[in-house]
Amino acid sequence: MTDIRFDGRVAVVTGAGNGLGRSYALELAKAGAKVVVNDLGGSGAGVGASTSAAERVVQEIRDNGGEAIANADTVATRAGGAAIVQAALDTWGKLDILISNAGFLRNNRFEDLTDEQIDPIIDVHLKAAFYVGQPAYRAMRAAGYGRMLFTGSASAMFGHAWQANYAAGKAAMLGLSNVIALEGSAYGIQSNVMMPTASSRLEGEMTSGYMEIPQFAKSFESADFSITEGRMGPEFNTPLALYLVSEESTATHGVYSSNSGRYARVRICVAEGWVAPKGNVPPSIGDIGAHFDKISELGNYSEPMTGYDEFTASANAARKQGVYP
Ligand code: NAD
Repeated sequence: MTDIRFDGRVAVVTGAGNGLGRSYALELAKAGAKVVVNDLGGSGAGVGASTSAAERVVQEIRDNGGEAIANADTVATRAGGAAIVQAALDTWGKLDILISNAGFLRNNRFEDLTDEQIDPIIDVHLKAAFYVGQPAYRAMRAAGYGRMLFTGSASAMFGHAWQANYAAGKAAMLGLSNVIALEGSAYGIQSNVMMPTASSRLEGEMTSGYMEIPQFAKSFESADFSITEGRMGPEFNTPLALYLVSEESTATHGVYSSNSGRYARVRICVAEGWVAPKGNVPPSIGDIGAHFDKISELGNYSEPMTGYDEFTASANAARKQGVYP
């Protein structure tokens, strides 16, 4: 196996004071990248701030012989995002890699979520992707090279009780990254989403109350955790994250799952479906009901890379079903 290096590359890793971000920053620096270690330094519920989290990781990187600077601006404001990217530009004159990773949880059952539990979660996950992503993109576009990795979550793609706020913010990474991948393709910018899995201090923020939901409790109780033993550390996620932001990787417009040492593509696709009879008369509601099995069937699916590609998928389905020639 050849080692993948990041010599000469400049990276911003947000939320790099703990957990996954810390591991990404340490390994990027070991592999030669210069790293802005960003972390606001608050609690796992996003309360408080301190420069020490980022500074500790920078010290670790320097002790290993690497290059890094600490930054304690918040990702959750436009000014904070601009300052984080500017720190890279001021220190090293460019930015090649953004790993947007900072975040926290404020769990509650859907019907009880308050604005204090919704707004900060949307700010730190979704809006931060714009606040840090936009200035990063501008710098990458000017240089004709860039790698962006946004942090998704199985909670968003598959569901997790008591996390509607978080799941909504994380699911949005998919659309955002797909559009960046399309627009960035003209400028050497690639963008992907990774869904990590790791034991981290965020577990402490997960309230066990959600186990009152029967379907969720059942899925937890029947889950096979045999692969997780010794493999739930953040470092099991880092190789895929770093590969996706490497020069060697051509992957873009994708979602990848890292789950206890199993690395896999997560795909959004559209099935063949059912095509209404030819002509300009819409089907009735009953027609939909009568064909709902076919509509729901996941056969002959395809993966549109743009919204226009879906028209082609629909036309292919119409041809296959003999509705249109
Ligand atoms: P963590 O709490 O260990 O690390 C997150 C870091 O983000 C913290 O150091 C925190 O101070 C920082 N942060 C929070 N708000 C910030 C802000 N406004 N500005 C700058 N920094 C801020 O958690 P982690 O488990 O390493 O999670 C990292 C990312 O991965 C998060 O986006 C999380 O939602 C996501 N994620 C984690 C898991 C998992 O299993 N751990 C699963 C799916 C997704």
